Amino acid sequence: DPSPETRHGLVIRSTGSWYDVRTDDGEDLRARIRGRFRLDALEIDETNPLAVGDRVKLTVGDDETGFITDIEPRENQLSRRAPGKRGAVREHVIVANVDRAWCVQSTFGPKVNPGFVDRFLVAAETRHIPAGLLLNKADLLDGNERAEEAMAFWQELYEGLGYPVILTSAVTGRGVETFRAALAGAVSVVAGPSGVGKSSLLNSVEPGLGLRTSEIGEKTQKGRHTTTFATLLEAGGGWVADTPGIREFGLWDLAPEELGGYFVEFRPYLDDCRFPNCTHVHEPGCAVQAAVDADEITPERYGSYVAMLETVEESHRASQQAR
Ligand code: GDP
Ligand code: ZN
Repeated sequence: DPSPETRHGLVIRSTGSWYDVRTDDGEDLRARIRGRFRLDALEIDETNPLAVGDRVKLTVGDDETGFITDIEPRENQLSRRAPGKRGAVREHVIVANVDRAWCVQSTFGPKVNPGFVDRFLVAAETRHIPAGLLLNKADLLDGNERAEEAMAFWQELYEGLGYPVILTSAVTGRGVETFRAALAGAVSVVAGPSGVGKSSLLNSVEPGLGLRTSEIGEKTQKGRHTTTFATLLEAGGGWVADTPGIREFGLWDLAPEELGGYFVEFRPYLDDCRFPNCTHVHEPGCAVQAAVDADEITPERYGSYVAMLETVEESHRASQQAR
């Protein structure tokens, strides 16, 4: 027998034991893992060794199913915490090799939640994933001057920090072409609180998806969020992660004095604080607090920082005690 040819592909669906793989030549294969390859070297959770977004090598058997023989090192991964053995907490990878992360917010119903946005952006920064903001339901702004000003404020703030901002509407189609172009050729995460219009937007980009959207007032307990299977959806010539538990991704294992470094506009000041482990709240000689006073850092972002610092300090204390 000649040895089977090795092929390369992308994991687009994970059910735990079987994986759907899109090969580089465009074929979809069901595949299983052969052996416990490289799990240790990659520090991969043995109970869930592969995630959607993983690039794999595989061989195809006589029955047209694949055997995954190798996984390429990950660029990055998004994970959530899951209960492990004996009360331990383990990291459950939900998507690997994310090229871009979009935080979706809406003008109304619900309105922009800067705390959510900043947690999202910080989480993306910790993983070196380029992030951006979608401000959806732009059609509802029509004629409402105060709301339009508020949106312009958020857009200017986040664009000023280097995060692309797209005003979109699943109703009028505004911004949909720009969003579609941003998805092309990449693996993206699209996350936000329920009701902001994630499903509607993705349906606008790719009508064939037919994602379920909720009616106004309906409790958004969607079928697709109760599934435990992670999927990459094909949209706009790229892939979008549709995975349970990705509305927010975690921020654990962060030391309090590290947090400031993930607020991009704090970075130029960090070396000028008097104390190297400054948390930029109560310390004297703090260059970040001086920059807030000088209006070089906005009170909105600094407020998010202070709120986030509290939760980071809390979980840091908890993990110190567990050790
Ligand atoms: P998801 O929970 O983020 O997936 O949000 P859905 O896509 O289910 O949308 C929630 C609600 O907002 C539904 O009633 C949609 O019809 C509505 N919606 C979504 N996008 C827009 C939009 O751009 N403009 C307006 N006016 N309503 C929208
Ligand atoms: Zn400081």
